[in-house]
Amino acid sequence: MARVLVGVKRVIDYAVKIRVKPDKSGVVTDGVKHSMNPFDEIAVEEAVRMKEKKIASEIIAVSCGPAQSQETLRTALAMGVDRGIHVEIAAGDLNTIQPIHISKILAKLAADEKADIVIVGKQAIDDDSNQTAQMTAAYLDCPQGTFASKVEVNGKELTVTREIDGGLETVKVQLPAVLSADLRLNEPRYATLPNIMKAKKKPIKKVTPKDLGVDVSPRIEIVSVEDPPVRQAGAIIPDVDTLYILKW
Ligand code: AMP
Repeated sequence: MARVLVGVKRVIDYAVKIRVKPDKSGVVTDGVKHSMNPFDEIAVEEAVRMKEKKIASEIIAVSCGPAQSQETLRTALAMGVDRGIHVEIAAGDLNTIQPIHISKILAKLAADEKADIVIVGKQAIDDDSNQTAQMTAAYLDCPQGTFASKVEVNGKELTVTREIDGGLETVKVQLPAVLSADLRLNEPRYATLPNIMKAKKKPIKKVTPKDLGVDVSPRIEIVSVEDPPVRQAGAIIPDVDTLYILKW
């Protein structure tokens, strides 16, 4: 049976209206609702289904972030993950941490935990990078099935249907492999109250990037974070002919 490692990122909730800090150094996070990155819920769901189908023996969720990332891990545990690893990122590094750092951390933990399958979301909705799966596979020197909308496990081989521009691509990859979950892979479950209670007793181990030998010192300097330009007001015109005149 496979051991599965899942990446779960704590992000500002998708429904929150993002506000930029007046000094343009970033976005306001204090007092703002945070949740698990939506694609990571799909990644967790896929891992839990693998366990239910007796394909996976153990699921380990990893979250790299501030102390509150443990809440994100608890959500994963309540969905059916067995244990969590919180990689605590110091406050000073939170704004400049990038997928390259996260990939090194995930690759190291996947190796330490002897994971056969690593599942992450296709994209974090805060940085929109879409890099972590690809770079984690590179660090592990293993195949990747990104933008997965269907995953079938046959022994040591995965058949992955990928959502690509204009269609679907089906690939076969040998384990160990890295997957990234796309929107249509599954519909994540809601944690039930009994499972939320049970999750409180599941273990979360805390480590630092240093413990894992990963240097998370900044590679970028954030120069400015700004709101998108405000959309200009539209105009009501009497008919289509007028639109044609205005356009030409
Ligand atoms: P990104 O490459 O930043 O768009 O993130 C893609 C995926 O990598 C996310 O959906 C997560 O599954 C995983 N990931 C990114 N950042 C973190 C983090 N800080 N902790 C755990 N997993 C992460």
